[in-house]
Amino acid sequence: MHQDFMPPGIVVLTGAGISKESGIDTFRDKDGLWTRVNVEDVATIEAWRRDKKRVLDFYNDTRKSLRAAHILPNAAHKALAKLEQKYDGEVTVVTQNIDPLHEMAGSKRVLHMHGRDGEIRCMNCGTVTASDEDLTPQSICSHCKAVGDLRPNIVWFGEMPQHMDEIDEVLDRCGLFLAIGTSGEVYPAAGYVLQVRRHNPRAHTVELNLEPTGNTNLFREHIYGPATLTVPPFVDRVLAYGWK
Ligand code: NAD
Repeated sequence: MHQDFMPPGIVVLTGAGISKESGIDTFRDKDGLWTRVNVEDVATIEAWRRDKKRVLDFYNDTRKSLRAAHILPNAAHKALAKLEQKYDGEVTVVTQNIDPLHEMAGSKRVLHMHGRDGEIRCMNCGTVTASDEDLTPQSICSHCKAVGDLRPNIVWFGEMPQHMDEIDEVLDRCGLFLAIGTSGEVYPAAGYVLQVRRHNPRAHTVELNLEPTGNTNLFREHIYGPATLTVPPFVDRVLAYGWK
């Protein structure tokens, strides 16, 4: 299709809520991860420097729980893969999740802004490698051979999210912005709805969440309920009628 006739892009920001019905806990709900673990103990660079074993054990366990056989993409992940496949324009999923459920459902354009499970990074040489091995404080970088500098390639609190330039570009050319299952409390993701509206005041913005978030007033349309029940009909609506 010629670029001039390309329909407007769609950007879908997803958070922990979209994977909740696949069996992965969110962060901030009442049964969420942060009610059981202290952020400062496991999800900061200072925690890793202070007690590498504790942090690495936490992520080794997290990886195993995300890879459990019963953790599968749900109807919401699958509907987004269908949207990408059937929509004539560009569909990009920008996810805050580290789980692989969007890819397992069939989505191809997925930007993991907080990193992804199954990758490790060397703090000495910066090399990122795909790996499902358990890390220990004695693990050796296969590239520079440094000992004890390997960590999960996950963005910790206080660190710069990944793919920022690419995310800015897709946000600036989108005509439809969806936020699904995200509490709107973590920046920069929480600011994306405003960024879209400032750049393109005619863009349509939709919040699909279990309940209203602190960001609710920034969206033009709101759809509340479990993602498996709200996302598939919304996708069918967009594919059939668009969003005008
Ligand atoms: P969050 O825990 O802050 O918020 C989750 C939101 O999802 C809440 O607003 C909640 O009401 C909503 N929600 C819960 N169940 C839902 C459902 N069934 N359908 C629709 N909405 C539902 O999560 P967040 O905003 O993504 O916070 C950001 C951080 O959480 C990110 O850094 C992300 O990496 C991390 N996280 C990721 C995973 C994962 O990879 N699956 C799991 C937990 C946390």
